[in-house]
Amino acid sequence: MTRKEFLKVCGILGINMPFYSSCLSSSLMNNAESNFSGKVIIIGAGAGGLSAGYLLKQLGIDFEILEASSNYGGRMKINNDFTDFPIPLGAEWIESNPSVLSKIINNTSVQVDIESISDLPDYKFVNSSWFTFFERYIVPSIADHIVFDSVVSSINYSGDPIVVTTENSEQVADKVIISVPLKILQDKDIELLPELPKYKQNAINDAVIWDGFKAFFEFSDRFYNVGFEEILENSVSGQKIYYDASYGQDSQKKIIGLFAVGHSVNKYTGLTDSQLKKIVLTELDVMFSNQATVNYIKHISQDWNKEPFIRSGYLSDHTDWQMVKKLGTTINEKLYFAGGAYTDGEDWVSVHTAAKSAKRVIDEIKL
Ligand SMILES: Cc1cc2nc3c(=O)[nH]c(=O)nc-3n(C[C@H](O)[C@H](O)[C@H](O)COP(=O)(O)OP(=O)(O)OC[C@H]3O[C@@H](n4cnc5c(N)ncnc54)[C@H](O)[C@@H]3O)c2cc1C
Repeated sequence: MTRKEFLKVCGILGINMPFYSSCLSSSLMNNAESNFSGKVIIIGAGAGGLSAGYLLKQLGIDFEILEASSNYGGRMKINNDFTDFPIPLGAEWIESNPSVLSKIINNTSVQVDIESISDLPDYKFVNSSWFTFFERYIVPSIADHIVFDSVVSSINYSGDPIVVTTENSEQVADKVIISVPLKILQDKDIELLPELPKYKQNAINDAVIWDGFKAFFEFSDRFYNVGFEEILENSVSGQKIYYDASYGQDSQKKIIGLFAVGHSVNKYTGLTDSQLKKIVLTELDVMFSNQATVNYIKHISQDWNKEPFIRSGYLSDHTDWQMVKKLGTTINEKLYFAGGAYTDGEDWVSVHTAAKSAKRVIDEIKL
């Protein structure tokens, strides 16, 4: 059971309690030769898009990744300035067995030199992050294929080749992998010609996409238990957790993390830094006998709804799996979907499922 599954069960049972339990392993398949020799355009350089590019590179298939922002990583973004270990502003836990890292690399001759520790029911990186993993093992072989500041505005897949339009270019490809956040498709930032089949468009329109927010507060004293995790809200409409963000890190810093998704974000979004500080310290003072305000040093926050090309947290954990499956289906052997929201319906909204979905579409493309 992963952290998300655990929260889901707690929500159903109406209980709030510390985490326990085990981990899952995912099953990325083995490499094989490709029969496809055309060009692929990937839209979005998050976990899904980068994994797809990396696998195409392994197969020797021509590809390009068009990324709207000036950075790769998407919701794996980190902050390296706040403290002496990378702060994960989005994806933090390995919601699977850490052996999934080798599966993403998909090359048995590469040894993964990234430390992780159990943080039941998941794992945590030690002085590292999902972003660091991708930066070290996935991006180097594909960096030359990423074109930044390329906001894709339309995909015309009515004929051959497919025409992909950005603000300042028009490019052609035989296959396109869409790996942008679901919210971007829901808001119709990208015009699709022809329109998607009704079942697919309905799944996109009807999807409940949670808001996403994280904050990290540093304190001068550890007034909380090492590794504490307190679920303050957990329902079909959102989750909110305070936790020991320095847990397991090679660091003496005392940092508490706040994770909020769905309606739980409402309390924190759109605030000034000092308003946020006041609200969070008040909440922590209630939990820890007024120890937060007196020990406060500094804080940072990340409001995912404010990221121009993401504008959301992620697809609700409570989405029906059959609907998720529709989000991941391929259209006309031309439009492929890879990323946290575009899976086979077994699992979704985590980095390793985004990578697994990339493997699925590359296996389809190479046939
Ligand atoms: C608060 C929060 C906490 C999370 N915690 C965890 C966790 O602990 N563990 C875990 O495994 N996962 C976690 N996740 C989920 C995980 O971050 C995502 O599932 C995963 O990173 C999504 O990858 P992706 O490639 O699908 O999308 P993204 O990472 O969002 O990448 C999509 C990319 O598409 C680009 N883009 C958008 N529009 C366009 C356009 N028009 N043209 C070109 N490019 C475009 C964006 O700039 C972005 O770089 C968390 C997410 C959030 C928000």
